[in-house]
Amino acid sequence: MAFTDFLRQQCYIDGQWCDADSGATLDVIDPGTGKTLGTVPKMGADETARAIDAAEKALPAWRAKTAGERAKLMRKLFELMLQHQDDLGELLTREQGKPLAEGRGEIAYGASFIEWFAEEGKRAYGDVIPGHAPDRRIVCIKQGVGVVAAITPWNFPNAMITRKLGPALAAGCTIVIKPASATPYSALAIARLCEMAGIPAGVVNVVTGSAGQIGGTLTASPKVAKLTFTGSTEIGRDLLRECAETIKKTSMELGGNAPFLVFDDADVDAAIDGAMISKFRNGGQTCVCTNRFYVQDGVYDEFVEKLAKRVSGMKVGYGLDDGTEVGPLIDEKAVEKVEEHLKDAVDGGAKVLAGGQRNERGGSFFNPTVVAGVKPDMKLAREETFGPLAGVIRFTDEAEAIRMANDTEFGLASYFYASDISRVWRVAEALEAGMVGINTGLISTEVAPFGGVKQSGLGREGSHYGLDDYMEVKYLCMGIK
Ligand code: ADP
Repeated sequence: MAFTDFLRQQCYIDGQWCDADSGATLDVIDPGTGKTLGTVPKMGADETARAIDAAEKALPAWRAKTAGERAKLMRKLFELMLQHQDDLGELLTREQGKPLAEGRGEIAYGASFIEWFAEEGKRAYGDVIPGHAPDRRIVCIKQGVGVVAAITPWNFPNAMITRKLGPALAAGCTIVIKPASATPYSALAIARLCEMAGIPAGVVNVVTGSAGQIGGTLTASPKVAKLTFTGSTEIGRDLLRECAETIKKTSMELGGNAPFLVFDDADVDAAIDGAMISKFRNGGQTCVCTNRFYVQDGVYDEFVEKLAKRVSGMKVGYGLDDGTEVGPLIDEKAVEKVEEHLKDAVDGGAKVLAGGQRNERGGSFFNPTVVAGVKPDMKLAREETFGPLAGVIRFTDEAEAIRMANDTEFGLASYFYASDISRVWRVAEALEAGMVGINTGLISTEVAPFGGVKQSGLGREGSHYGLDDYMEVKYLCMGIK
């Protein structure tokens, strides 16, 4: 097979492949070549309403299956994803830009959520609570919430869907997915795999097109019990407001501004390895990417010098070319944001030690960049850059570093390197973030709860916490004689 076998240019509603009612389409561009890969339907409110109806119609039979029956179908979906990992990875790289090794890696990572939740669905245990009266017995059961709507971003076109699809299916929910318009093919490929796996019509639906119309229909519908969203804090806030009308359950994975702290007692070489992966994975376009480095006086010069050396050696290129470590950014706007943050830093006196400009390939390729002497009030320390720009800030004492790290409305990921055990506990407990990488720059796994505090979101994805977010607890109070 080839990646083209999974390049579906129609949406998937109620088990049918279909076009927009109007026949309108959207172009999908390969950000590495600027060329059009194909089109997808530009759907709106009517098609979305049909997808919701299909999900509602499919719900009773899907929720009536045992967790084991659902797990068998999900296992098949997981196996198909791995069986076609290379083609799915290539399709992902072509629409998203990331290096092929990362594209393939994402398919395996994405598939892991399907496998894990298939198993965990069998363990959605309830409780028996000692009663409050002699003639009462208390039992709690967990049930899937119902129809789920998922709105997903372009930076992980597969995994940001499977993290939602896995727990939804396992919990006995049906789902309508609206992928980012920049990367709809990985989502439609998942729909095709669900079809191949034998997941019944209407259980999984994918609608592409107008974000406002599709999103608005999903949030307004009383038939949709839950909205799960990954994307910017700005859009998340709007969607939460829209969901207030029907009091939906929501999961929000929003923006981050991850700090990465390196203390004097850190293993600097290990910190460099962690910095590279946490900053430059996916070209800096992940919500858990380090956005600001804080390095203590004693190791500052060594860290900055070593980081600049490693970054200068990175290979920028087309995602499908051998050896590419950094692909293009998703679009021109993304490059302009990196340039704006860089200019603001340089104008304020920061020094460029590596990169510092667009790549000679043109398009949306930008050279990985290190700037030192960054000040806490510069844009790159305050706003999510979402690109391959590493800014380093010097600090002297621990309390000052923690204060600066927490001085943001975001609280998704954070990282620090240290070896003193008391410091490790102190800093881990003090950082205001949903996730803390301690002496590691890579924290994502299906078995752990991913999510943020403050304005980085609500809820958790992955782990048993991630299944709970798709279930309601029902309390049964039994009167007995
Ligand atoms: P980013 O582009 O940083 O990933 P966005 O929040 O802009 O974050 O987009 C994430 C997802 O939200 C995408 O699928 C996008 O199409 C969708 N989206 C954007 N605006 C709206 C909106 N007004 N209503 C519903 N969905 C939206």
